[in-house]
Amino acid sequence: MSNAITINPATGENINEYERIAISKAKEKIALARKAYTSWKQTSFTERSQHMHALADHFEENKEAYARLATTEMGKTIVQARKEIEKCAWVCRFYADNVERFLGKETVDTEAKKSYVTFQSMGVILAVMPWNFPFYQVIRFAAPALMAGNTGVLKHASNVQGCAFALEDAFIKAGFPEGVFTNLNINAKDVKGVIEDKSIVAVTLTGSDPAGRSVATVAGANLKKTVLELGGSDAYIVLDDVDLEEATDLAVLGRLQNNGQTCIAAKRFIVLDAIYDAFLKMFTTKMANAKMGDPMDESTYYGPMARVDLRDEIHEQVTKTIAQGGRLLLGGKIPEGKGAYYPATILADVHPGMEAFDNELFGPVAAVIRVKDEHEAIALANTSQFGLGSGVLTSDRERGERVALELEAGSSFVNKLVASDPRLPFGGIKNSGYGRELSSYGIREFVNVKSVWVA
Ligand code: NAP
Repeated sequence: MSNAITINPATGENINEYERIAISKAKEKIALARKAYTSWKQTSFTERSQHMHALADHFEENKEAYARLATTEMGKTIVQARKEIEKCAWVCRFYADNVERFLGKETVDTEAKKSYVTFQSMGVILAVMPWNFPFYQVIRFAAPALMAGNTGVLKHASNVQGCAFALEDAFIKAGFPEGVFTNLNINAKDVKGVIEDKSIVAVTLTGSDPAGRSVATVAGANLKKTVLELGGSDAYIVLDDVDLEEATDLAVLGRLQNNGQTCIAAKRFIVLDAIYDAFLKMFTTKMANAKMGDPMDESTYYGPMARVDLRDEIHEQVTKTIAQGGRLLLGGKIPEGKGAYYPATILADVHPGMEAFDNELFGPVAAVIRVKDEHEAIALANTSQFGLGSGVLTSDRERGERVALELEAGSSFVNKLVASDPRLPFGGIKNSGYGRELSSYGIREFVNVKSVWVA
């Protein structure tokens, strides 16, 4: 069995090698997670909250070390990596402080002496996670799942196993009992065997469409619940009344943050004809001025992509779109030298049937689409196979809200980049998946909503 090797995408150098465990070993760890569950589920919300606050403290105290680890393993800028760790602490505190409100007993008036709804834990939950926010994606699952009384096992992406083991260690350092949160360094093909293990009660996956389908198929065959957070390529509609300076600033950040590798990033800009040329001109200038470079350098705007194979994949998508008639305005060329760098790229005059319109561009490549009016923009946006996070840019808030409500997506933001926020539910429709994370909706995904009636 090949081990997981982590590679610094900025330099191409190997960082570390992590021994993979066989399915038999994974099952032993799952048995320990199940054993831990029997006592963890009996703990009070107060006790769990103390642990969760301790974990938040731990993230804050070790922010720099964890941020550097994330940057080294997957290339995000150090500035953004620090923000990711801060957000982990926020989510931990959010669930520690709100768990009773979300999962407290709900009394229902019936003919019974007593009738109510109670939210009980389920057991051991498997989380299959991606590398793009190597700490946050895991905490977004683990904070609510553990606060609800479940235990968790993690199959993290192979290229961020340093972060995966650091997370396991963080839970222990924060005082969580052993087995409450466990990293399983297994091969992706062994996820099937893990889902089939009788102690696993449910699965959550954040990742690509093929991985989601594969996990949902196995889970379905075993009648186990799934939450799927998959890809997105939702529209950002730029209306003709927009402030172009503000809109283009937002567009550049939306496309390049996390080196272009965010599920809810602004990937396709649907721009009204009246401002199309002006938007494109300003957007191209600002994208060209964004500094690509060493992600450890504080002044770098965007770093390399996470892996060379992913960089090569996006370059193929760019080449295909150009062959299909897309107009290359910026970038589109693999730079010489080491690392998985890809420059900020703009493809204009994109339309349905082209690679950049139909599929997700998971890297620093923007597709710009011209439409005659708002109605065509909405119709075109809704032809997407995805429905995760879309945006509307306009100077007219009411108009923006009206358009946002018509977009088929789990989130639609007006004049702000879509971002996940623990106070609001997060998730998708269509091929972007199903189920919700965060807020009260997220914590109720992995509980038994139980009715109790006392006559
Ligand atoms: P990925 O290749 O699907 O990998 C995600 C995880 O699934 C990794 O742990 C991977 O393990 C595992 N995996 C891959 N194939 C599998 C299979 N057939 N069965 C079971 N597990 C499997 O995705 P990625 O390239 O890491 O992440 C990028 C994708 O995630 C993009 O499409 C992005 O939009 C999406 N994403 C969605 C959200 C959201 O919240 N909706 C957030 C972030 C990212 P290995 O690493 O060992 O292959």
